[in-house]
Parts: sequence; structure tokens; C-alpha cells
Amino acid sequence: MTTLITDFVPAEIDATTWDNLQPYYQQLLDRELKCAGCLEQLILDRSELDAAADEAYCNLYIAMTCDTEDESIKAAFLAFVEHIEPELKKVRFELDKKIVKCEHVKHLDQDRFGVLLRNWSADVDIFRDENVPLQTEDTKLGTEYAELCGSMMVEFDGEERTMPQMGVYQLEQDRERREASWRAVAERRLEDRDKIDSMFDNMVKIRHQIALNAGFDNYMEYAFAEKHRFDYTPDDCTAFHDAIEQTCMPIVRKLEEERKSALGIDSLMPWDIAVDPHGHAPLKPFDTADELIEKSSTLFHKMDEGLGEMFDSMRDGGYSLDLDSRKGKAPGGYQACRDRQRIPFIFMNAAGLPRDLDTMIHEAGHAFHSMLCKDEDLVWYRSSPIEFAEVASMSMESMAYPFLGEFYNEEETTRAIRKHLEGIVNTLPWVATIDAFQHWIYTNPQHTREERTAHWLLLSDRFGGREGFGGGVCWDGLDMEREAVWHRQLHPFQVPFYYVEYGIAQLGALQMWMHYRKDPKAALDAYKNGLSLGGSKPLPELFSGAGLKFDFTADMVASLMTTVQEELDNHA
Ligand SMILES: [Zn+2]
Repeated sequence: MTTLITDFVPAEIDATTWDNLQPYYQQLLDRELKCAGCLEQLILDRSELDAAADEAYCNLYIAMTCDTEDESIKAAFLAFVEHIEPELKKVRFELDKKIVKCEHVKHLDQDRFGVLLRNWSADVDIFRDENVPLQTEDTKLGTEYAELCGSMMVEFDGEERTMPQMGVYQLEQDRERREASWRAVAERRLEDRDKIDSMFDNMVKIRHQIALNAGFDNYMEYAFAEKHRFDYTPDDCTAFHDAIEQTCMPIVRKLEEERKSALGIDSLMPWDIAVDPHGHAPLKPFDTADELIEKSSTLFHKMDEGLGEMFDSMRDGGYSLDLDSRKGKAPGGYQACRDRQRIPFIFMNAAGLPRDLDTMIHEAGHAFHSMLCKDEDLVWYRSSPIEFAEVASMSMESMAYPFLGEFYNEEETTRAIRKHLEGIVNTLPWVATIDAFQHWIYTNPQHTREERTAHWLLLSDRFGGREGFGGGVCWDGLDMEREAVWHRQLHPFQVPFYYVEYGIAQLGALQMWMHYRKDPKAALDAYKNGLSLGGSKPLPELFSGAGLKFDFTADMVASLMTTVQEELDNHA
């Protein structure tokens, strides 16, 4: 561990303007590096400067999402995105280069700096000037896609409704209303099917060119380098897809059979997969945001005194929680960390729904992660790759099972746990579908639209789950709708190849849960130990630090799915 300290960046710097940041970055770029010690000091000083800039962005983002109607906040946020981010991107890349090409780099402690240098070297290696405009074009297309989807409205129940608003009808007991709303949504989406396919054709072309420019055979290989996936390969992912098909799909089909008989229908249709099959009204875990906070505090204290105290420090320590739903707040939920103060923040729109409780527990897991590694000197090590970051949050969801009595009675707890387990079983095949689809797309970049659709249908036969594919759900007479289902998954459009991470993390979270059931104290100690490593080690070491195997082979998936099936039976 480094013994250097940094006072390079004044505590009171206003990092929301480039004029204030630029001189410091310039000093780092100009600094002469006489030895490995100089290089280490440069990295540490840069860490503090990057943290200051990132915290300025984070504060603006938090302010904007908490009050979308304040025009001055919005303007300040957009100014940062438009004027400061591009400058930061450029100057940080110059610093990456200066550091990895420095003659003293080989004398740095590899155990300490290895992960950092590996990431920066990869970024420097794949960078090409001619890719900058292509990447801008790709981002622009992604924004157009998001705008197109965001502008889709459906006339239903006497009013114009957005797509998210239409989702609630899928929970209604009236089957005809579910069908009518499902068809209205699908019809509206099909109107833009050609437009979306054309956008995607362009994206594939651009991405393939980016990969060729950077010296790769295809965009899949490029994406693995760009995403710093050094610890697993495309072949590992393909084996993971196969494992999900073999061990997860039988459970999906069994659940679909149970659902069909509970609903008392002959064929399970796509509009029958979200509704409660037993006719229960939706669960209502809490009423107000304050109630959510107090009961969550009790839950975490019961789970572990240390975690309870960490949660309370967010409740009591200034501006760390903004949970209630109110006019002008942005939708969704997230956890963000102010990188300089090293204080996490949780945002959500709590409306008393089970989903809100899930979000609270999930985001608290991310916040524990931030707090447990906050003494790490290097800002880049105060967060970890998604494959592990989501282990921190997803594990919490299952480890919270024994304490859901804070929110539910016994029967409701059983329902909530079952629903969560079903969610896991249904999500993994969808992860496999989306990931396998992208593997095929980018390793067959010359494909026609018809071939792409045909491959999508092939995958949708193999894998089922969330969208109702894989054999148990009847799509007769809905061919066009089925062909276009992937159009509503934003990842292939906006963040290509980002998806399998959730599957990998879920396997870690399930392992953690199995350990927790056997020995809660040992599991929680390992959990905290793994999280305290932040992102300072490669993925296999982060997993083993938490007592987990970085393993998504068929054997691992099979053993975890056996436990999930047992627990589903226990919560029938
Ligand atoms: Zn998360």
C-alpha cells in the first residue's frame, strides 16, 4: 500500500468549470517523472483530481434528478456534459498514455497497480483517432433510438399513455383488458419496426468498422477489450448460455405450467405472464418513505449490527437518501457515490410498491460497497466491475429474506420470496438470449435483416423467461410481434454487449445466499471482506475475497438452480 499523501487539489475547488480544472490537469501532464515514486505520486494526485471532477458531475446529476423542473440546475448539468466531459475524456486519455508509457511503470508494485495499468493499457491500445467520429455517430443513433421509444404513446382506456404506464395493465386480473393493452402496445411498436431495424443496421456497420480500425476481426472482440473483460472469454459466455438452457429452462417451463393451471386457462399467452396467477392483490410493504427508512434500518440491524449502523449513517448523516415520490423528480432509482467526500447517495421514487422495497435493499447493497471501500486511496479502486458490483446488491436481496417480516405477514413474505426467486429464474434465460444474440450479430456483421430475425427466432425457441419465450407460452398468430420483441431491450442499441454481467453477478449472489443459509455470520464476514476490496483486484480475486467462486460453468449453474427449485417448492 502506498504511503504517499496528496494535497494537490484544494478542498474548496469548484470543479464545475473547465477553467478551474484545466490548470491542474495541465500540471499533471507537464510533470516530469524522474522515478517510480514520482509516477506513484502522479497517479495519486490524479486520483484526487478525477474524484473532484466526478463529484462535481455527481452532485449536478443528483440535483437534476431530484428536481427536473429547475431550469438552472438542468442548464448547469448539461453544461458539464457538453463542455467539461469531452475535455475530461481527452485529458484523461493523455494521462493514461503518459502513465502506461512511462519508463518507470515497470517498477510499480504490480499487486497494487496491476488492475489499473491493465485497464489503462487496454484503453490506450485500442484507441484510434479515426474512431472518434464513428463513436460519436454511434452515440447519436443510440440517442435517436431512445427518443423514438420515449415518444411512443398509446391511446388506451380513454387516454394517451406512455409505454411504462401501459405496463400496469399487465397486472390486472381482467384477461381481456390485459390482452387489449398488450396488443395496443405491440401494434404501436410495430409501426416503428422498420425505422428501428434501419437504425440498428447502421449501428452494426459503424461498430464493425470501429473494430476493424482498432485491429480486431469483429466488434465482439473489440467489446471484450473495451469492457476490460480480461478474466473470461466469448467461449465462456457461450457455455454459460448452454448451461442456462439446460438447467434453468426446465424450471421456467415448470413455472409456466403451474401458472397456466392456477389461471385455469388452456394456453398461456404473452399477456398472462405478469399477473398474479392466484388473484392476489398486489403487496403493499409500506406507506411512506419514512416508514421505508425506519423498517429498512431495523431489517439491516437484525441482519448485522455493522450493516445496520452503516444504513443509519446514511439516514442521519446529511444528504444521503432521497426516497419519496414527488412531482418533478426523475423516474427510477440509483445509488451514486460522491467520490471526494466518499459519501453514497440513494435515489428512488418510493410509492409503497414491492418493487420499491426491492430497490431499497438492492441500492443499500451498493451503498454498503461504497462505504466498505471508502478508505481506498485510488478513486478507480473505490468501485468495482459490474460483474462484482451487482453481487454486492443482488446478494442483499436474498439475504434479506429472513427479515421481510418487517414489511409483510407470513403469507405475504412467502409470496414476496417466491416472486423474487421466479424473477431470478426468468431473468437468466433472458440474459442468455440477449447476450447470445449479440454474439451472433457481431460475428456475422454482413447479415441481412431476414437472417437476423431468423436467428432471433431460433434463440427465442431455446431460451424463455421474462418475455415469455421458450416453449411454454403460446405465440400463435403473433409472429410479427415475436420477431420484434428485442427492439424494446435498450442495451443492444445503447450499450452493446453490456448485459451478461447481470447473469454472472447473479451466480455470485446465489452462492452468497447459499453460504448465508448455512452460516450467516461467516457469509456476512466474507461479504464485507470482498466488498472492502473495491475494484483493486481482478474479478476472480474479488469473488474469492467474498468467499465465492468466479465460475459460470454448467456445474455451478446446475447446483445453484437445484437450490432455487427447492426454495421455490418451499415457498409454494
Ligand atoms: Zn445494481
